[in-house]
Amino acid sequence: MRATPLPIAVIGAGFSGTMVALHLLARIGPRAILLCERGGRFAHGAAYGTGEPGHLLNVRAANMSAYPDRPDHFVDWLAMREPGDEAQVHETPAGTFVSRGLYGRYVASLLQTALAEEAGSHRLILVGDEVVDLLPDDGGYRLVLAGGRQHRVAGAVLAMGNRLPVQVELGPYIANPWSCAFATGLRQGEPVVVVGSGLTMVDVALQLHAARFSGPVVAISRRGLLPLIHGATTPWPRPALSGEARGSLPWLLRRLRSEVEAAGAAGVSWRSVVDSLRPITLALWQGLPAAEQRRFLRHARPWWDIHRHRMAPPVGQQIAAMIAGGYLQVRAGRIQSVETAPDGASVSYRPRNGREVEAIRAQRVINATGTVAPEQASSPLLERLIIAGLARPDRHGLGLQLTDGFAVVGEGGVTPGLWALGPLGRGVFWECTAVPDIRNQAAQVAEGIATFLS
Ligand SMILES: Cc1cc2nc3c(=O)[nH]c(=O)nc-3n(C[C@H](O)[C@H](O)[C@H](O)COP(=O)(O)OP(=O)(O)OC[C@H]3O[C@@H](n4cnc5c(N)ncnc54)[C@H](O)[C@@H]3O)c2cc1C
Repeated sequence: MRATPLPIAVIGAGFSGTMVALHLLARIGPRAILLCERGGRFAHGAAYGTGEPGHLLNVRAANMSAYPDRPDHFVDWLAMREPGDEAQVHETPAGTFVSRGLYGRYVASLLQTALAEEAGSHRLILVGDEVVDLLPDDGGYRLVLAGGRQHRVAGAVLAMGNRLPVQVELGPYIANPWSCAFATGLRQGEPVVVVGSGLTMVDVALQLHAARFSGPVVAISRRGLLPLIHGATTPWPRPALSGEARGSLPWLLRRLRSEVEAAGAAGVSWRSVVDSLRPITLALWQGLPAAEQRRFLRHARPWWDIHRHRMAPPVGQQIAAMIAGGYLQVRAGRIQSVETAPDGASVSYRPRNGREVEAIRAQRVINATGTVAPEQASSPLLERLIIAGLARPDRHGLGLQLTDGFAVVGEGGVTPGLWALGPLGRGVFWECTAVPDIRNQAAQVAEGIATFLS
């Protein structure tokens, strides 16, 4: 009798893990897939688990299909859904933007359909627990769950998403705004300080406002830059970039500026130029020497982020109104210290162009600076994989070192039977964290696994 082949584990069931599992179903039969999620809610992840209807996708609905070869899949799903949530769909001159919660329902519906189709085969198994270790075992791995159970698997995919800071308890300092009800129990009129002024700060401000906190919300970041707003775009041809431009950051920036000027002269928005880079962003990033990549991360990244990751127009309008009304104050400066004080914290910062340190008494301080390096993340699994030499951080500490085929690289080279995708690939691929990127990666990872197993 032939032994049942060992399953493949997919660790994390946000968008990345859910899509890898769905692609694997079509490619590795009769082998089973263990889809493991520690958060209790499958197919949502940090981005699409929000219950706040004002949290909108920052990508147009037309670009949010889960499948690279079916571009209208999400838009068709939107058109076919039951009536009742029209308020979560916003038609704007820049395109249609929907709430992230609604998008979570779309991804969950794909998983539900697959579960129903596979009900008899038991090939798609949901495991509601945290994976805390993967131990090499007879050519595969022993997967260890926080609850103590273990499974033998042929290989595993790390789809663990954004590595978030650890939230110890609900006190005046909120390290991880996605992990707790930070907008409750606030005293009206006493400032809340948000560290950061990007899309996470925007989420936080919207949530505070929706919870009827009267303000003020003071956002502090080094440059005080806010994400820009989506607008109507016309396709712009991808710029031809010479070899020299590709390897040098100043050259690239100069070239980009001249392209934006040319577009402007033709009556085309800078947004179209930024969007035209999407197919070559990977090649541009990988073409930069390590020192130039570091330079980009240190100096150009905030500018890139605000142009590339834009707010949906309804969100942009709300943020503009908050600023005009004094509800939201965005300040440029460097935080010097955050000290616990009676009923809150004292935040000292040096304004960007000022000499004097200023202090703000805040009832709550919310960290909205984004994700942390793998070794600082609240992930025993990543920690153990790195200690065991099965994985190692990429050269910038943004995620893990991966091959172009998404195989995890450890101290001894490629680690057989281990893959990763999504935000963990940031240092290697740079722009790889949005749905239009991840949907391609998920299909490629499944393809790679099928080849590995054949
Ligand atoms: C707030 C926010 C808004 C965003 N908005 C957009 C947008 O509008 N459009 C867009 O294209 N992209 C957006 N993104 C980018 C987003 O990162 C991707 O679209 C996508 O959701 C990433 O999915 P993921 O599955 O890789 O990560 P995540 O969504 O972070 O999911 C990872 C999952 O893994 C689980 N997990 C982690 N470790 C373990 C473990 N050891 N064991 C078991 N489970 C584990 C976590 O609980 C989590 O559910 C947004 C991101 C954020 C954070």
